[in-house]
Amino acid sequence: MQEIISYFIQNPTALYIAVGLLSLCIGSFLNVVIYRTPKMMEQGWHHECQILLHPEQPIIDETKLTLSKPASTCPKCQSTIRWYQNIPVISWLALRGKCGSCQNPISIRYPLIELLTMVCSLIVVAVFGASIQMLCALIFTWVLIVLIFIDFDTRLLPDQFTLPLAGLGLAINSFFIFTTPKAAIWGYILGFLCLWIVAFLHQLIRKEEGMGTGDLKLLAALGAWMGPSMLLLIILLSSIMGSIIGLILLKKNGESLPYPFGPYIAIAGWIALLWGDQIAKAYLGG
Ligand SMILES: [Zn+2]
Repeated sequence: MQEIISYFIQNPTALYIAVGLLSLCIGSFLNVVIYRTPKMMEQGWHHECQILLHPEQPIIDETKLTLSKPASTCPKCQSTIRWYQNIPVISWLALRGKCGSCQNPISIRYPLIELLTMVCSLIVVAVFGASIQMLCALIFTWVLIVLIFIDFDTRLLPDQFTLPLAGLGLAINSFFIFTTPKAAIWGYILGFLCLWIVAFLHQLIRKEEGMGTGDLKLLAALGAWMGPSMLLLIILLSSIMGSIIGLILLKKNGESLPYPFGPYIAIAGWIALLWGDQIAKAYLGG
């Protein structure tokens, strides 16, 4: 490990190329995760309901959806997407955004998520350089991208991502990667508490539910990664982003829409992990 890191410290260009190519492929995988996880959860709920409602009936064994099976198909014509049609960004451009078999348009979101994953990963490299922090921050970035888009699509922040994210934060910080083990535990606890208070006040004042428990678990996970000192910054940044976007939507639609708050918390958390110390210093020291 130490040898790989020292090689990349001496050859930063090689590091950028390696992470750039890797993150494009990761982005392609994140597309699958973002698309399939809500469908897999739905299948699980159906399964449970069936057992509950008709325990006497044998379970119809529909093909279980997983991240790797079945192979990706075109949602319109069901033709299997071949490996050369699945190269990040390039395939989409080569096919001019259309399915190779039925010419049905393929959403531009797929190559955009791949590019977004690459750009964010390269920024992580630029901020942390070749280090353990960089590796951890890359995983952090990829999980947040999945959470942002799933929340955007379904208003859900699935436990199978927020809980492992918190676990990973606590685990790496027991080795003092981003903060002390003690701060990580306090960050986790206070992350839950302070958003719970915000949600409680919101409910008290506006008599409507503003936040889901997924948001609490996400903020708690961010607290486990960075310690309690960053929580205030994250809440502040996400509220500012949420208010600005909320105002734009209000002007456009003329009514306030229930809008997922998770993406703002995730973006604010990402900014806080990369530049939180500088932002805090600029405000407190300047
Ligand atoms: Zn097709």
